This record gives sequence, structure tokens and C-alpha cells, in this order.
Amino acid sequence: MPENRVVQGRMVTAESLAELVEGESVMEAEAIEQADRECPECGGDVLEVGYMPSVTEFVTAWKCQECDWKETDRD
Ligand SMILES: [Zn+2]
Repeated sequence: MPENRVVQGRMVTAESLAELVEGESVMEAEAIEQADRECPECGGDVLEVGYMPSVTEFVTAWKCQECDWKETDRD
């Protein structure tokens, strides 16, 4: 399986996907996984990525591959 996925027509890596959700650079990101859920807004496929925005925090984020919808476990 390739590491890169397509989100809204653009190739993303785990790190760039995490940065897309976070809105700024992150320290570290785990591999992207296909989430076992659908986007609540458009029904599209959702990706899951875990990342560390800072040394003391770990966030799990979900991002739709088709639209702007995103969510984190901080929400
Ligand atoms: Zn969507």
C-alpha cells in the first residue's frame, strides 16, 4: 500500500495530512489509515491520522477525502 493518499484532489503524506487538519506544522505523524466511518457531510471516505502537534500532545484526526470536513479527538 502506498503511503500517499489523495485528499480533495491532492496527494498528501501523513505529515501533510496532519498539517492540513492542524493548520500548522506538526512534530511527527503516524501512518495514514482508512477510517471505518463515512464523512457526515458528504458520505465520502475518511482517513485517520495520529500526530503530535507538540512533545506533550497526541491527537487523532479524521479528514474527509472529498470535502472540507475534519475532526479531531480534541473536539
Ligand atoms: Zn466529506
